[in-house]
Amino acid sequence: MIKGLFPKAKKLKSPSFDDFDLKEHSYISWIDIRANHRKYIIAYYQNKLTGIYGSFDPLQQKGICTLCGKHGEVGLFVAKVKGIRRDMSIKRGNYICQDSLNCNRNLTTLDKLNTFIERLQK
Ligand SMILES: [Zn+2]
Repeated sequence: MIKGLFPKAKKLKSPSFDDFDLKEHSYISWIDIRANHRKYIIAYYQNKLTGIYGSFDPLQQKGICTLCGKHGEVGLFVAKVKGIRRDMSIKRGNYICQDSLNCNRNLTTLDKLNTFIERLQK
């Protein structure tokens, strides 16, 4: 099921999701350290389970998270999105919490998460 969300990700390793439940968490995220610290994010977007992934570089200084809006330990999440032409892709970066569970707890609305997914999905 998880693999189907990331058709382009090669050698996808996902953790078991016994500990996670998307009813309790707005999004699920994990980092694959074997694939260059690639970060995967799964969330419901327009009632559909959606996956996005990109590189993740933790910042040395604190910043504001794009998803929960809190000031804390963040990292730069960079995902490739389609450009204007089909053969083009552009990189889009967002600062998001390093601690996804904490970030989930801080979410008071899904608006930012939805906007985030919408921008990176294309
Ligand atoms: Zn956050």
